[in-house]
Amino acid sequence: MSSDMTMADATASNVSGSTDLLQRYGCGPIHFTGTRDALYERHLMFDHVVDPTSVGPRERYEAVARSVRDVLSQRWLRTEQTYERENPKRVYYLSLEFLIGRSLANNVMNLLLDPVVARVADEKGIDWLALLDEEPDAGLGNGGLGRLAACFIDSMATMQIPAMGYGLRYEYGIFRQSLRDGWQQEQPDNWLRRPDPWEVARPQESVEIRLGCSFEVRNGTFAAVPGRPSSLLGVPYDRPVIGYGGRTINTLRLWAAAAPHALDFQAFSAGDFVSALAERLSAESLTRVLYPDDSTSMGQGLRFVQEYFLVACSLADLVRRFRRTNPVGSPTDWRALPDKVAVQLNDTHPSLTVSELMRILLDDAGLGWEEAWDLTRRTLAYTNHTLLPEALEKWPLPWFELLLPRHLEIILEINRRLLDEARTRFPGDEGRIERVSLIEEGGPRKIRMANLAIVGSHSTNGVAAIHSDLLRTVTVQDLAELYPERFSNKTNGVTPRRWLRLANPALSRCITDAIGDGWITDLSQLAKLTPLADDGAFQDAVREAKRAMKHRFVAWLASTNGIAVDPDTIFDCQIKRIHEYKRQLLNALRIVVLYNRMRQNPDLDMVPRTFFFAGKAAPAYRLAKVIIKFLNNLAAAIDDDPVVRGRLRVVFLPEYGVSLAEKLIPASDVSNQISTAGYEASGTSNMKFMMNGALTIGTHDGATIEMAQAAGEENFFLFGLTADQVSGSAGWYSPFWHHHNEPETRAALDLIFSDHFNRNEPGIFEPLRDALLTGGDRFMHLADLTAYLEADRRLLASYAAPQDWTRKVIMNIANSGRFSSDRTIAEYAAEIWDAKPCPVP
Ligand SMILES: *Cc1c(COP(=O)(O)O)cnc(C)c1O
Repeated sequence: MSSDMTMADATASNVSGSTDLLQRYGCGPIHFTGTRDALYERHLMFDHVVDPTSVGPRERYEAVARSVRDVLSQRWLRTEQTYERENPKRVYYLSLEFLIGRSLANNVMNLLLDPVVARVADEKGIDWLALLDEEPDAGLGNGGLGRLAACFIDSMATMQIPAMGYGLRYEYGIFRQSLRDGWQQEQPDNWLRRPDPWEVARPQESVEIRLGCSFEVRNGTFAAVPGRPSSLLGVPYDRPVIGYGGRTINTLRLWAAAAPHALDFQAFSAGDFVSALAERLSAESLTRVLYPDDSTSMGQGLRFVQEYFLVACSLADLVRRFRRTNPVGSPTDWRALPDKVAVQLNDTHPSLTVSELMRILLDDAGLGWEEAWDLTRRTLAYTNHTLLPEALEKWPLPWFELLLPRHLEIILEINRRLLDEARTRFPGDEGRIERVSLIEEGGPRKIRMANLAIVGSHSTNGVAAIHSDLLRTVTVQDLAELYPERFSNKTNGVTPRRWLRLANPALSRCITDAIGDGWITDLSQLAKLTPLADDGAFQDAVREAKRAMKHRFVAWLASTNGIAVDPDTIFDCQIKRIHEYKRQLLNALRIVVLYNRMRQNPDLDMVPRTFFFAGKAAPAYRLAKVIIKFLNNLAAAIDDDPVVRGRLRVVFLPEYGVSLAEKLIPASDVSNQISTAGYEASGTSNMKFMMNGALTIGTHDGATIEMAQAAGEENFFLFGLTADQVSGSAGWYSPFWHHHNEPETRAALDLIFSDHFNRNEPGIFEPLRDALLTGGDRFMHLADLTAYLEADRRLLASYAAPQDWTRKVIMNIANSGRFSSDRTIAEYAAEIWDAKPCPVP
């Protein structure tokens, strides 16, 4: 698609007069456009001191972004002023990750400024799509957990909830991925290399954090110096979070670490000066880089300090704000804390919040234990994101002794009281005592962060119904029996602004033409599409929208990656972190079986298909990197084989991130959600595909189960074992049985193990033999392969009947309303936070 389409999309917004709009943002006297003092020209000229006619696209991007920020500034200030005046209960969302992606187009959309920007871009001859590509993705997260945090702050702003996100300002986000000979290569992601027009540094609001030891960078690693207490400065950088319609503009506050004292040039001799400089650099290196591990806990010291740094900065900041709400001169009424503050912990990463808040209430506020404990628990709530044992955080007790000795005292006292209570309620049950304890015995002893978060908060939730059930009945069963009233489910969601309205202009317009635009802020209105599922004209419109988005994607792919794909093939996608439990290997086995069928029967009649994969592997996760290599070799072997060429195609797209997801999902026909049942907590890409009119082939896992219930199982392609069957499989599952007894499974495996896909690189796929066969395979790939192929056959049959397929597509879109993060946030607000909207006048 050319940029024409985007211009038209932009003007399709539901807004009339742009002058009124700007008035509303307090921009009466300034002109966004015009000839003399236009914001855009002024920024171009004054920010870069260049001739506006000779600038490159990056300067244009910065000038447009700055102009948009000017437009929102007054509204942003007014939001905070309103909160200060009304003093509502505030929600603080603490997360080590915020995978926000790009901001420009999203902010323009949420401010309803697309008509203005479209006109300006037209007048100035700006290529809008090219300009958007100048903004780097803010990749401050690994995957689903970080993206959830980004969707949540969007929903909270749109729903006018007084909320703030707290995170870290990593200088390097998730690494950039490229491919060399099919292997993943990692490059550092220096996304802040050029000035970021959205962030506002607020050094005057810095906070000082005290630590029980000092740090040095020695031989490139971060080393603790025991017994020498030190402090660090947290400097906040604020980013606007714009609610749809631009009424509320909340803040995402990211902390950067700095040395606490300015360098005093006079005071140092040359040698001191260098060591003082080194200290400064070691302080700043704390927030240098995001840990690139997804669903594993690498247990590294620097990560532990990062977690404490986020917690300590954010609590100091919110406590300072809370104390400001007390009348000047009167003592702080700490009993009001849970009425004014709700803190949500996104996974256990910020769970030191429990002991930090206790420390503040005991040592700074001078409260007694009972009162401090009551206030702490009523203020905090915790979200669990995973049941994988390798992902449950446990930190060595000696690290607490070194860095946080006061926290250790507090945690040991919490534990003493917890075990007393457990012994009273379950006398003689020492196994239970051992399991609920905050301390895991063994050398060295470790603190169990999930137990700390559950015990120290009033609410623990999972992120999909099945996940919350397993959490309660299996993973932390003993704690759930001690505190059953604390446990609940909050099924995840995604923001329909970014993932439908912005990412898929063609389908958005088609939906708005049919039912109006109320769906943008109330996604349940998509249910109004149900009566249109068999409507011929609407079916045509939906098919046409998909076709348009496929063409747009194909054009983008050709121009950026030089890859030509055929838009008239089925686009079948699996895009997510590479992990054994997500089972990209199961998908690969399906493709090898289809490939074998075609090789055996060259005349086989099958709709041509393109299989897209994208995803990053943690740099230390060897097998995940072998999986990427295998997918690329599979792609090459198929391309080289004249028998299947043109009918089967595999494409591995590098550099998966928010921006790639926004481009590919609207163009997809099929969504693969095929994790081993019981392993995927929720999934959220499944929801993005559903609302974009892709059909799901998937397992009984995570939120996919709820999606199938909502859409009707007849509109889904579910297959495979249930979580109960998986967890009960220890006695019977043998991958060898499948190899012996299923001819297609055996042929696929034998082809792989015969080095067919790696003729010039013998042996490189031996790790796959171990993963799938000889190692026992805890993820049970082979147990689900036959069922997967059977579901795939049903899927192809439906695709061959366009009216049936499109009917299913519409039924999926119409029933995706539940998977808006607005619904999720409404549940958190009502059932966990007791938070209410606070509209900005
Ligand atoms: C939505 C999203 C995810 C989560 O995907 P899952 O398939 O649910 O694991 C990860 N990364 C990005 C960039 C996303 O947009």
